[in-house]
Amino acid sequence: MERNNEYLEERMYNLWENNFSDIPRKNFVLIKFGKKSYRQLGSIKLANKRTKIKNILKNKVDEWEIQDEKEVTVITITGFFADVYVPDYVIDATIAHEMIHYAHGFHSPLQKRVEHPHKGNVIKKEMSNRGLLNLYINSEKWLKNNWTDFINRKLRRNPISYA
Ligand SMILES: [Zn+2]
Repeated sequence: MERNNEYLEERMYNLWENNFSDIPRKNFVLIKFGKKSYRQLGSIKLANKRTKIKNILKNKVDEWEIQDEKEVTVITITGFFADVYVPDYVIDATIAHEMIHYAHGFHSPLQKRVEHPHKGNVIKKEMSNRGLLNLYINSEKWLKNNWTDFINRKLRRNPISYA
């Protein structure tokens, strides 16, 4: 069993409703699984011509059209997280991390709220302000205890595709 992009969408919209409801979604924010990256678990950027989102976007035209800003923000989650062995809360914490960048004005139409996306523990502070500190801590703990083993198991099972 593998998770899909609809799963990510649902998790993101739940987080938006429950923990980020003060943050306006001024443009369309697309979330998807990307390549199987070991180090980069999540990323956020503004789409440009070379961003491969056409196939996803064509099913989302209605959502895209109602937004004030037409630029598209793309949140990409490592393809390794599609494996249901990875707990939901690890994925939620990763999505929340990228949403905090959006809220701080990075790769979003919102005003910049901090100088640098990571300096000064801004992510952890923001998680805490939004009632997500436990999620953050539990996710860090799980990754610390399981991530390397998980990747090694994947590599052993299928050494070529992850080389
Ligand atoms: Zn970050």
